[in-house]
Amino acid sequence: MKKDRASLELSKETMKEYGNHVVNAIIEHYHTQSNKLPVAMGSREQMDSLFLEEAPEQGTEPLDVLNFVLEKVMTNSTDLSHPKSYSFVPGPSNYISVMADALATGFNIFSGGWVASPAAAELEIITIQWLLKIFGFPQKKGGGIFTSGGSMANLTALTTARRIKCGEDFSKAVIYLSDQAHSSNIKAIRVLGFKKEQIRIIPTDLEFKFAINKLKNCIAKDKLEGLLPFCLIATSGTTNTGTIDPLSELATICKKEDIWFHIDGAYGAAAILAPKGKQLLKGIEKADSLTVDPHKWFFQPYEMGCLLIRNHKHLSHTFTEKPEYLRDIEGNTSEINFYDHGIQLTRRFRALKFYMSLKTYGLKEFRNAITYNIDLAEEVETLLRSSKHWQVVFPATLAIINFRYNPIAKKHSKKELDAINQYISEKVVSSRKALLVTTVLHGKTVLRMCLINPRTTLNDVKETLALCEAFAKDRD
Ligand SMILES: *Cc1c(COP(=O)(O)O)cnc(C)c1O
Repeated sequence: MKKDRASLELSKETMKEYGNHVVNAIIEHYHTQSNKLPVAMGSREQMDSLFLEEAPEQGTEPLDVLNFVLEKVMTNSTDLSHPKSYSFVPGPSNYISVMADALATGFNIFSGGWVASPAAAELEIITIQWLLKIFGFPQKKGGGIFTSGGSMANLTALTTARRIKCGEDFSKAVIYLSDQAHSSNIKAIRVLGFKKEQIRIIPTDLEFKFAINKLKNCIAKDKLEGLLPFCLIATSGTTNTGTIDPLSELATICKKEDIWFHIDGAYGAAAILAPKGKQLLKGIEKADSLTVDPHKWFFQPYEMGCLLIRNHKHLSHTFTEKPEYLRDIEGNTSEINFYDHGIQLTRRFRALKFYMSLKTYGLKEFRNAITYNIDLAEEVETLLRSSKHWQVVFPATLAIINFRYNPIAKKHSKKELDAINQYISEKVVSSRKALLVTTVLHGKTVLRMCLINPRTTLNDVKETLALCEAFAKDRD
């Protein structure tokens, strides 16, 4: 390799060789993934000892850097696409979208304004139209935008809700969400500058759904005090249990009270593609705005979130600014500048991966995968119920199941059960053989599996449960 490069360039041969290595490494990873351990662990000291150095003044051979990264970085990162990664919300991903991301980055397409990249803007418009149709939103009036993830989609939604319902003065505005709403919503509310007194966290019922009567009482009380109820955040697929709030009832309340109805479907909305999910998600089409997160259950690689909106003008009213340096890339009114519909100006071309994966696999393959996931969680529930060791704490809901070790043969106190289940999770994770962490439901420490990976088999789950039982027995 020639030294003293001045322009960050490589020869065509080096580029090819390098590119082939990268693609081969990715393919190899996909094909050997299930034989690898999903969990990586490392302290700051260990990572420092691998990577800490001054920014190098002199370069290194390209393949040496690449091999170092493959050996040291990739192996020290937990694999949330692994079939035995059950925790949080996994990201199963898919190969076509991975390659699409490489293309979008390789051509470095600016996905901000129409004139800069009409095809990229058009693909975003079209894929958003597909999603609007899937979710039963109005196609002509509706709109949306792709974001980095669900958190940014929620922030974009709440910014819009505030703008449309409160205008400039939001000092009396009040926002409602349940105690099971995702933490990104609270973060967004804080970013937007609301005070603690403006947030109402409504308790949930035994099934973790919004307690409707408590909500109604709270709204009535706020109105009596001269406050302005302006937004309600429902969840379709809570992160803990997959619970769907009573969407139609909440929609009716919002309509009556002139409240913006936002649904956070980051985790669960994709279930609409499966017949069972569609049934459960009735009412989702009534939202003013809906967060979905394609990098979860639409199988896209990170980062990709999406906000859908009933009236696309609400986005442009909220986010349009007209600086002189952008006037030449505006385009006409049918030609959307996505920088006018959200927070980012320079944006990566996220629509491409969604477009290419849907075109390649067809919606049918997505439907099949999601249906498989929902069925798998139900099979796991049956398995757990037939065992003497396990107790189902919350039934399989949108591919999430919560359970705990609680053997029939032995009576344990609540405290002991919490400790055993915590212990099981710690041992499993530190064995690195599965990512299975706990959550807390009604004060109980439980194990939680989110089974949205189409590569996870019932046998994978059986192996993991056997591992759990072995650890439980040491302790019990
Ligand atoms: C994951 C999740 C989010 C946050 O989305 P990110 O893509 O992680 O930013 C928000 N809400 C719900 C319900 C989620 O499951």
